[in-house]
Amino acid sequence: MAWRSSGSSSAELISNMMRHGLVNSPRVAEAMKKVDRANYVIDPTYAYEDSPQPIGYDATISAPHMHAHATENLLPLLKPGAKVLDIGSGSGYLCAVFHHLVGPTGRVVGLEHIPELVDWSVQNLDRDGLGAAIKGAQIIMVAGDGRQGFPREDAIHVGAAAPRLPKALVDQLASPGRMFIPIGTLSQSIYQVDKDEHGNVTQKELFGVMYVPLTDRRI
Ligand code: SAH
Repeated sequence: MAWRSSGSSSAELISNMMRHGLVNSPRVAEAMKKVDRANYVIDPTYAYEDSPQPIGYDATISAPHMHAHATENLLPLLKPGAKVLDIGSGSGYLCAVFHHLVGPTGRVVGLEHIPELVDWSVQNLDRDGLGAAIKGAQIIMVAGDGRQGFPREDAIHVGAAAPRLPKALVDQLASPGRMFIPIGTLSQSIYQVDKDEHGNVTQKELFGVMYVPLTDRRI
């Protein structure tokens, strides 16, 4: 179904996804159109297909409709100047989208535990015209265990499935803040975890998914 949205450029792919109701926010569409997915895949032949693709090291770049879902879910927190954390940043694609939304006064951290993928994602972002944003520390790509997180984040995206909600990440959410996280092992769902301005935490199960697990790095 999702494959019907394929295009011959990022702009065409996103326009088709909008037509099929897979991207609904014009702000998200605009940010995603600024990111050329061909810069974030190994084989550009399928870059503009709405499907996940292998990027090595047992990782995949998620399908564009999942990137769109995640971004739309976090959108209320992705205001200019916001601090965003993308855990399991893989190709770096979502970091680019988040950067376009939070702007030059915002800060996006990509946390990925495979150092080779971190290096590759920096190259991808550079190819996509975001070298200056990396130099200016508006986008920071870090090698490390995402389960430890990064303090005081307005929005956290987790790109790999945790067996249960990691407490460290909930603690690090700003008030208000929101996290989009796949949870589960054999059966997984996306959870939206909200912290309100008083620090109260609520969570809501959104829909079933299949993500690679949030794991220990195997050498
Ligand atoms: N969202 C990314 C990649 C998703 S694949 C994209 O679309 O390109 C999930 C990623 O999570 C993989 O790159 C994997 O290496 C990473 N990962 C798994 N466990 C992790 C952990 N404990 N800490 C940080 N990254 C992790």
